[in-house]
Amino acid sequence: MKVLILGAGVIGVTSAYYLAKAGFEVEVVDRQPGPGRETSFANAGEISPGYASPWAAPAIPLKALRWMFSRDAPLILTPRLGWAGVRWLSAMLRNCTSARYAVNKGHMVRLAEHSRDCLRALRDEIRLDYDGRALGTLQVFRTQRQLDSVGKDIEVLKEAGVRHQLLSPEQCRIVEPGLAAATASIAGGLHLVDDETGDCFKFTQALASQTARMGAAYDYGVDVTALRLARGRICGVETSKGVRTADLYLVALGSYSPALLRPLDILLPVYPVKGYSLTAPLLPEALDRAPQSTIMDEHYKVATTRLGNRIRIGGMAEICGHDPVLRLSRRRTLELSAANLFPSVANLREAQFWAGFRPMTPDGPPIIGPTIIPNLFLNTGHGTLGWTMSCGSAQVIADLLVGRRPAIAVDGLELHRYD
Ligand SMILES: Cc1cc2nc3c(=O)[nH]c(=O)nc-3n(C[C@H](O)[C@H](O)[C@H](O)COP(=O)(O)OP(=O)(O)OC[C@H]3O[C@@H](n4cnc5c(N)ncnc54)[C@H](O)[C@@H]3O)c2cc1C
Repeated sequence: MKVLILGAGVIGVTSAYYLAKAGFEVEVVDRQPGPGRETSFANAGEISPGYASPWAAPAIPLKALRWMFSRDAPLILTPRLGWAGVRWLSAMLRNCTSARYAVNKGHMVRLAEHSRDCLRALRDEIRLDYDGRALGTLQVFRTQRQLDSVGKDIEVLKEAGVRHQLLSPEQCRIVEPGLAAATASIAGGLHLVDDETGDCFKFTQALASQTARMGAAYDYGVDVTALRLARGRICGVETSKGVRTADLYLVALGSYSPALLRPLDILLPVYPVKGYSLTAPLLPEALDRAPQSTIMDEHYKVATTRLGNRIRIGGMAEICGHDPVLRLSRRRTLELSAANLFPSVANLREAQFWAGFRPMTPDGPPIIGPTIIPNLFLNTGHGTLGWTMSCGSAQVIADLLVGRRPAIAVDGLELHRYD
């Protein structure tokens, strides 16, 4: 049986791996010249089940109001948000209750932990080089007030069984010795010890090569324009290189998934939330002073991650549709966060500046599983932690397509939760 996967980001490629492993004939198409060239290209490099939480949290409406008056705010609304943005924001606000947050977080943690197990099993099966490290995430709080507000998160971590340690400033500097040179004050930290780091683009590329060796066909430079429907089933996909056919179709187009499905009256509440990153080689003399893993600066909500002999600084959320402009004010915030915590470890002026669009659902969990069309399936909407949730999501979709019961419950992950 043949599956045509639309999209070769980290979600499409991990899906290809688990579907090929399950015995399907797999074809993947993507408009880019290779895998992982859009949102999976330069993300913050965290594999962080410990950080898997919806943005739609009880404190967010008040914080968002405050951020409207701050130059370095982590969340920025722009006039370009459009009606889709307004609808998405109001759906997100409806999820900002304690009860909804707890339910949504539960779905995300369940998937993220399954994903971590799947990734570990994958690494036992095949060797993948992606500058991977397993040294945890350190959330750094600059003020006592930020530190005090972490109590609720710790309760949630305890409930979910996520291993963590609350650290004094001195302990933060033991975990990340480079913080000894920080010019910002540090009130304390929260160490999520089981989190991992790496380069998502390298991971996606390596896994695509492995999957191709397993027999999957990858076709790049192919723009998908429409789905063809006949007698209630998808009978082909129109592309810039002709019509492609298969028995089953899987949409993994990230933040571009809704546009393809709208003509079929399948409405995906997935919005492109723009984020930025900077990637710079470390100065040779600064390797010891540089971050060892991911440091999440809770003041700016910016993550700085060690990737081999480079650092990646990522964060910010702009609600501006698919506006590709790279705004220098965002670059400044990223530089400020990293320079405060790890001064002079890289030449940030020469860093590669990048932006990508997180495919965000308003409630938080991605959308995985069937649609109203029997041979059309979805694996999209992974938002802030798509790499973290990729292997688990792909294993779940492979299980569903084979007709096997997935290892985790899929309630709260399927499209019909929005009915
Ligand atoms: C700044 C930033 C930091 C982040 N940090 C992290 C992190 O630390 N950890 C983490 O787990 N996640 C992180 N994320 C989120 C993560 O990067 C995304 O959730 C993930 O990359 C989404 O993968 P995807 O495959 O769904 O989308 P994409 O990677 O965007 O893949 C979709 C693919 O579809 C293709 N496509 C789209 N439309 C068409 C079309 N019409 N025809 C043909 N092809 C098409 C694109 O070319 C693309 O290759 C971050 C995101 C951002 C922006």
